[in-house]
Amino acid sequence: MSSDDPQTISASSTVDTPAPAEAAGREVERRSPHLPRRASDRRSARPLPASVLTPPAPPPPPHLDDYKAIVGQSQLDTLRYLAKELKGKTIKMINSTAVGGGVAEMLNRLVPLLSELEVPTHWDVITGGNDFFEVTKAFHNALHGAPYQLTQAAKDIFLMYNEQNRRRMQFGEDIVVIHDPQPAGLVLSRPQTPAHWVWRCHIDLSNPNAEVWQFLRPFVEQYDAAIFSSQSFTQQLSIPQYLFYPCIDPLSEKNKELPDSQVQEICDEFGIDRSRPIVTQVSRFDRLKDPVGVVQAYKLAKKYVDCQLVLAGGGASDDPEGAAVLQEVKEAAGNDPDIIILDLPPWCAVQINAIQRASTIIVQKSLKEGFGLTVTEALWKGKPTIAGAVGGIPNQIIHKLTGVLVHSVEGCAFQIRYLLTHPEFARSIGSSGREHVKENFLMTTNVKRWLLLFRILEHTKGRRGQVS
Ligand code: UDP
Repeated sequence: MSSDDPQTISASSTVDTPAPAEAAGREVERRSPHLPRRASDRRSARPLPASVLTPPAPPPPPHLDDYKAIVGQSQLDTLRYLAKELKGKTIKMINSTAVGGGVAEMLNRLVPLLSELEVPTHWDVITGGNDFFEVTKAFHNALHGAPYQLTQAAKDIFLMYNEQNRRRMQFGEDIVVIHDPQPAGLVLSRPQTPAHWVWRCHIDLSNPNAEVWQFLRPFVEQYDAAIFSSQSFTQQLSIPQYLFYPCIDPLSEKNKELPDSQVQEICDEFGIDRSRPIVTQVSRFDRLKDPVGVVQAYKLAKKYVDCQLVLAGGGASDDPEGAAVLQEVKEAAGNDPDIIILDLPPWCAVQINAIQRASTIIVQKSLKEGFGLTVTEALWKGKPTIAGAVGGIPNQIIHKLTGVLVHSVEGCAFQIRYLLTHPEFARSIGSSGREHVKENFLMTTNVKRWLLLFRILEHTKGRRGQVS
């Protein structure tokens, strides 16, 4: 490693690549695999910031009134008005995990907010052995189009655990919402309950493995309605479908306002120079996020405009494929000291927030994407955003209005150069992007959609299965 290598700040760099000081036999710091390393570590071993050593304690969930400063009193009044008619109606949400992943994160906020609106909402999590979660992980990938040979054994495991959970759980609520395929089989209890049953699908079903979809579809069609995250993620179904965009919480650690001093402190820790333009992509090290394409685009743009590139990702230390992609990124970066690669532990929400806020431009050059929450996060921070026109990204980026869409490395390079040299235009798409998120992709909008759906379902009481 030469002294002007790209700055890779991660555990792996401390473990397998001796820095010059280490090679010279000076004292070497010993760190746990997740400790990010300061850019300056190779020159002077300063102690790491305590903030990234261990996961911070989760802050208490916000109350409805905490959103007033962001969305305004009238939005909150609307929610209270919509909830009035539902007062006392009970809801049950069921998914497959209480922690980790976007669905659990969203439920963590949605459930207390609905309950605060006097629509008591309970959240249950199904249980299962490793065999069940292996099968459902394989189903998940297959529903995204991965090749998969569905066996009778896999079907039996899926059915057995769904049956076990079905027998264990009570469904006495007015509305039952099942999230994703893992607990989809619970709907077999529907005939014995007066509840409306809704299937909330968070994944892209547009190109599913035919066998897995054929197996799941009969369950899905027993629900009263299905909800998808984008028009492009749906399937033809015999039941009514609703469109609910995913959302971000503007009060979460990832998205809350930060004082500039904190942004500065975090940038200093990672060796990011705020006096020069910063182009950032935040993403898992995954080929479908095209981090190598981002490096290539940056290099093309850099011939014309000065900038740094920050690639902030995670997962490379516990995912062999992630580690391989990180290696490819490092190779593509070569010896450019203006490329800062961060392999962050999963609890670094506030650091990601600060890096996004410090950025001049945010890129999400995905080749395939789900909804693309990093784009939502970037737009919410008012950042001019360049993103691949895939998955749910075109729902968020209206080309040249709320951001710019690209289809190639060259297109991305052109837009980086253009936005860095046209700051007025960049500012204007950034601010329209924030408005677009405020209108469509915040937690409060999501609560509104749930309340509207619950009202529609309740209006059709006695006509279950005919909500269209
Ligand atoms: N993220 C993170 N740490 C990382 C990389 C990503 O916390 O190192 C977050 C990112 O801020 C976003 C989510 O993980 O909230 C990724 O969601 P997205 O829909 O963009 O992509 P996915 O990873 O689900 O394909």
